[in-house]
Amino acid sequence: MTASASTYESTFVESEERRDLRAAVRALGARYGLDYLLSCGKEHRIPEELWREAGKLGFLGVNLPTEYGGGGAGMQELAIVLEELGTAGCPLLMLVVTPAICGSIIARFGTEEQKQRWLPGFADGSVRMAFGITEPDAGSNSHRLTTTARRDGSDWLLSGRKVFISGVDASDATLIVGRTEDARTGKLKPALFVVPRDAPGFEYRPIDMELHMPERQFQLFLDDVRLPADALIGDEDAGLLQLFAGLNPERIMASAYSTGMARFALDRAVDYAKERTVWKTPIGAHQGLAHPLAQIRIELELARLMMQKAAFLYDAGDDLGAGEAANMAKYAAAEAAVRAVDQAVQTLGGNGLTSEYGLATLVAGVRVGRIAPVSREMILNYVAQHTLGLPKSY
Ligand SMILES: Cc1cc2nc3c(=O)[nH]c(=O)nc-3n(C[C@H](O)[C@H](O)[C@H](O)COP(=O)(O)OP(=O)(O)OC[C@H]3O[C@@H](n4cnc5c(N)ncnc54)[C@H](O)[C@@H]3O)c2cc1C
Repeated sequence: MTASASTYESTFVESEERRDLRAAVRALGARYGLDYLLSCGKEHRIPEELWREAGKLGFLGVNLPTEYGGGGAGMQELAIVLEELGTAGCPLLMLVVTPAICGSIIARFGTEEQKQRWLPGFADGSVRMAFGITEPDAGSNSHRLTTTARRDGSDWLLSGRKVFISGVDASDATLIVGRTEDARTGKLKPALFVVPRDAPGFEYRPIDMELHMPERQFQLFLDDVRLPADALIGDEDAGLLQLFAGLNPERIMASAYSTGMARFALDRAVDYAKERTVWKTPIGAHQGLAHPLAQIRIELELARLMMQKAAFLYDAGDDLGAGEAANMAKYAAAEAAVRAVDQAVQTLGGNGLTSEYGLATLVAGVRVGRIAPVSREMILNYVAQHTLGLPKSY
C-alpha cells in the first residue's frame, strides 16, 4: 500500500466493519490487479476468476438481502467493493449492473419467485444480468424509448433496439427497459422485462470500441421476443419507480468505478514522483507536479464524500435525496478520474504512455465516466433545473 492509500480510510464516515471490508477487498484486488484485467480485455473475456472469487467471499452480493444469499448490507458497502477493486487496478464493471441495478430492483420490487430465481446467483457469482435502457434514436432522452411490449394471451411480445449495452455475452439475461400501453389512457409507460440471452428473437452484436476493458458493449435487436408473464419485474404500473430504484445505485456505483480508477492512477503517479530524480531532487518536489496531484487528491476526496452521502441516503430509503447526491457524486468522480489519469500520465513522462505502466490504457476508460451512464451535460441539466430551479431548454 502506498502512503496515500492508507488515508482513504477514516472513522468519520466508516465503521470498523466497513474498514474491514475495505481491507478484505483490497487484499483480493492485490492478487489480480491491472495486468489481469488488461489480459482479460485483450481476450474480450469477462474477468471470471475474480468475479467468482469475489462471489465466494460474499463481496458481490454484499447489498442483497440475507434471505437470498446476500450480505444484508447496502450500497455503501457495494461501493466500497468496487472502489477498492478499482484502486487495485481491476474494477468489475458488471458490479454496477448485476447487483447494483438489477439486484436492487429485483430485491425491492420482484415477486418472491423472481427473488428466489435471480438473487442467490447474483450473490454467489454464478449468474449475471446486464441492463439495457439506451436506444439508438433516444440516447439521453429516455422519453423517446420505443422498445415496446404487448400482451399475447398471458405472454408478452417485446420488440425494439438497444445500443451500448455492457456484458450481454457474459450475462444469463438482460433486464430490458421497455414500455407498455396503459389500458386506460393509451399512453406508453416504462416496464422492466428479464430477457434470457438465448430467447428466440433476441440478437446481440458487439460494437467495436476503443476501450481496453474486458466487458464489451452490444447492440441488441428484439424482434417479437416471447416472454412469459413473470418476465415482467414487479408491477406493470410501477415501472418508473422501479427504474429509479435502479438508476440511483447505478450512479453511485459509477462514482465508485471512477474513484477507484482515480486512486489507482494517483497512487502510481505519487509512487513514481517520489522515486524519479532527473535534477537534484525527486520530481515530486517540483510544485509543477506536486500541486496538480494535491489538487486531484482534494477533488477525489470531495467526490468520495459525495458518493458516501448518496449511498447513505439511498440505504436510508431517501430516493429523492439520493438522486441529487448520486448525480453530483457521479459528476465529481468522473471529473476527478479524468484529471487523475491525465496527470498521472504527465507525471510519468514517456513512461506514462508505455504498456509497462498501463496508465495510457486508462485514458479512454475514465473518459467513459463523463458519458455513461448519464452524461456530464445531463447531470448539469438536472442540477440546474432541480437543485437551482432554473428553466429547461429542451
Ligand atoms: C462504455 C459504455 C458502456 C455503456 N453501458 C451501457 C449499459 O450497460 N446499458 C445501457 O443502457 N447503456 C449503456 N451505455 C450507454 C450510455 O448510457 C449512453 O452512451 C449515454 O447515456 C449517452 O447517450 P448517447 O450515447 O446516446 O449520447 P447522446 O444522448 O446522443 O448525447 C450526445 C451528446 O449530447 C449531449 N446532450 C444530449 N442532450 C443534451 C441536452 N439536453 N443538453 C445538453 N447536452 C445534451 C450529451 O451530454 C452528449 O455529450 C454505455 C455507454 C458506454 C460508452
